Amino acid sequence: MINGYTFSKLSTYSKTWLCSNRFSYKCEAKIKMDGLERVTESHLNHNHSPPQYYVSPDGKYVKIRCEFKIIDSPKGGRLIMINGYTFSKLSTNSKTWLCSNRFSYKCEAKIKMDGLERVTESHLNHNHSPPQYYVSPDGKYVKIR
Ligand SMILES: [Zn+2]
Ligand SMILES: [Zn+2]
Repeated sequence: MINGYTFSKLSTYSKTWLCSNRFSYKCEAKIKMDGLERVTESHLNHNHSPPQYYVSPDGKYVKIRCEFKIIDSPKGGRLIMINGYTFSKLSTNSKTWLCSNRFSYKCEAKIKMDGLERVTESHLNHNHSPPQYYVSPDGKYVKIR
């Protein structure tokens, strides 16, 4: 794992490690290592954000299967969609994004992001099921009422 990105070997004897997201994103990031597992060459220009991992109690990295998208809402303004739930900013300059259902359900789920739109903190315990969206022909997410 490098900077939160994972790489896997091309083949057992290969010295080239390719980004684990090479299929999903056609990402061309790769590294080469010598026999002593020292990096001899690295191309780390990923075209996607790093997968989210957490470290399990036995020390393993477990991928959080998390659908994360920043979307423009039809009404203007931005929303973040995580696992089908949407979040909106508390205020324009705020770094805290609250569940869009905070009023209807008094839901307390929220995330915090840094200036580079990386999630620094997340509380994803919603007390309701995700809203239903469909993607309109012009690529917008529209909430199904
Ligand atoms: Zn990549
Ligand atoms: Zn919620």
